[in-house]
Amino acid sequence: MDTMKARVLRAVGNLEYCDYPMPEVKPDEVLFRVKACGICGSDIPRIFVNGTYHFPTIPGHEFSGEVAGVGDEKYKDLIGMRATVFPLIPCKTCENCNDGKYEMCKSYDYLGSRSDGAFAEYVRVPVWNLVPIPDSLSFEEAAMTEPCAVALHALRRAQIEVGDNVVIFGPGTIGMLIAQWARAWGARVLLVGTDVNNWDFIESMGFTEYCNSSKEDAIEWVKKMTGGVGADIAIEAVGIALTACNCLEAAASGGKVIFVGNPHGDFTFPQNTYWQILRKQLSIFGTWNSAYSDTHKSDWNLVVDAMAKGMIDAKKLITHKFDLETMDKGLDIMKNNSEFFAKIMVVNQ
Ligand SMILES: [Zn+2]
Ligand SMILES: [Zn+2]
Repeated sequence: MDTMKARVLRAVGNLEYCDYPMPEVKPDEVLFRVKACGICGSDIPRIFVNGTYHFPTIPGHEFSGEVAGVGDEKYKDLIGMRATVFPLIPCKTCENCNDGKYEMCKSYDYLGSRSDGAFAEYVRVPVWNLVPIPDSLSFEEAAMTEPCAVALHALRRAQIEVGDNVVIFGPGTIGMLIAQWARAWGARVLLVGTDVNNWDFIESMGFTEYCNSSKEDAIEWVKKMTGGVGADIAIEAVGIALTACNCLEAAASGGKVIFVGNPHGDFTFPQNTYWQILRKQLSIFGTWNSAYSDTHKSDWNLVVDAMAKGMIDAKKLITHKFDLETMDKGLDIMKNNSEFFAKIMVVNQ
């Protein structure tokens, strides 16, 4: 039997590096050779706390590579195609799928959580999920398409406009990608973080208007920076109650608040903070995943285009690279926060 190298989650906390059977490719799928796969923040609880839907599973859902084989002769022209992959496999029968809103599919499969993903040499990928990338885009940058699309999707929910004051609470990977998109849109970007953030790194991306809320009152700072008005759009990209409250406080009258961060625990709003939603007639948006279709306006196609044109510099966020054998170091850095990191990438030679 043909085998490949892979990282196989056999139980919570046991991500074995081993020889594993090659994926079996169905007629509407390709055999995809993985070149680069980012470690997502969500992979840490998936590997170390909650596990996947069943064991064994190969995690990894932010990836790029090339088509190495096809399940049906009619796709043979795809062999050699460089691509990134939308990791969600929708049912295409529920009402959200019928609406083209695959990110809200009620019965989806997912490469890297429900099905085998890309911490491996090869993965099986439906033809429908392939997003071609130009030769000018490196595999590593192309593996940033998923988080870039998540960031774009969040901003598009609130219909950002040129000149908007956008404050982002949580300048992590997603927060900084949102910041880049907002800037590309002609908005002014204000960043709020804490001592855990690397402000030199943030400045090196050209963002100079920021507040370290470990040292300064973030709400007062946003008010000061906006002439007392508040932000047109406030974005929560941490997932804790404090920053959610800060967003409601920092938003201008008639402003918009976008909740992006996956919640850590329960949220309680002080009464006076909750009043802000009513008195300022705030619009609150949730965002989930990213939109995918074959039109040029889909989040995924826009991201590939923007990265190829240099509008979005996602490679700047890649701070560490490992391979399948050594990626435990990357997982440790993320799990223990033992050193500064933005995106940690697993690269196959
Ligand atoms: Zn992810
Ligand atoms: Zn569906």
